[in-house]
Amino acid sequence: MKKVFWDNPYQACLETKVIQVDGNTVVLDETIGFSESGGQESDRVTINGIEVLSSRMDKTAPFLIYYTLTEGHGLIPEANAIMKIDWQRRNRLMRLHFTCELVLVLMNRLFNTTPEGIELKPEEIDTVIKKRGAHMAENGARVDFECAVNISEYFPIILEQYNRIIAADLPIEKGFLDEVNQIRYWRLQNIATVPCGGTHVNSTGEIGEIDLKRERANKGVERIRITLKNTEATSNPDEEHTFSKII
Ligand SMILES: [Zn+2]
Repeated sequence: MKKVFWDNPYQACLETKVIQVDGNTVVLDETIGFSESGGQESDRVTINGIEVLSSRMDKTAPFLIYYTLTEGHGLIPEANAIMKIDWQRRNRLMRLHFTCELVLVLMNRLFNTTPEGIELKPEEIDTVIKKRGAHMAENGARVDFECAVNISEYFPIILEQYNRIIAADLPIEKGFLDEVNQIRYWRLQNIATVPCGGTHVNSTGEIGEIDLKRERANKGVERIRITLKNTEATSNPDEEHTFSKII
């Protein structure tokens, strides 16, 4: 099952075929519909105009994604399937996803005292300051850290560095760390390499500025709430796959 959302996270429409049907659950040959993983919520998806109610990604080979539809969907194996996703939602989810990861990286660089220009490696993340979870929804994201002090005291330095990275519009490199086990990564040169199976935009300029708000999640756990200043979807560079091109 080719996961087109990794190769081209801008693709909002896909022509593929059904390869498996089990009651109301189907598997397609290829997919653009991301299924909740790593804290990023699922896409809103339709298959042949029928709404997907839920989805589940298998964590073991062959790493299929199962989409559950309403009764009477009429899909049969080998049938053609047109999958569409809600682009506004995907756009916000992937931008918010990256804000979480950039805040995570900057907090780790700060606590690890990583010198400027030296890239943070995957194995250095979560060693000094530890993440206790993250979640990205359409209207905002949160990331929790084990932290004994009020985390908002770090916001000025984090935001200053964050804004510099956004303003520089740096390319975000993406690929497989381990293709057999489907482990993905993203990388900002000289800043960090981070293992992650989410969807990621092509460059930091697309993400835009953010607001940070502190909450106390639990004893010893500080929560950072992140919202986008500009919630409008950024322009989609993949014009070829917009809804209007596929009937
Ligand atoms: Zn990610």
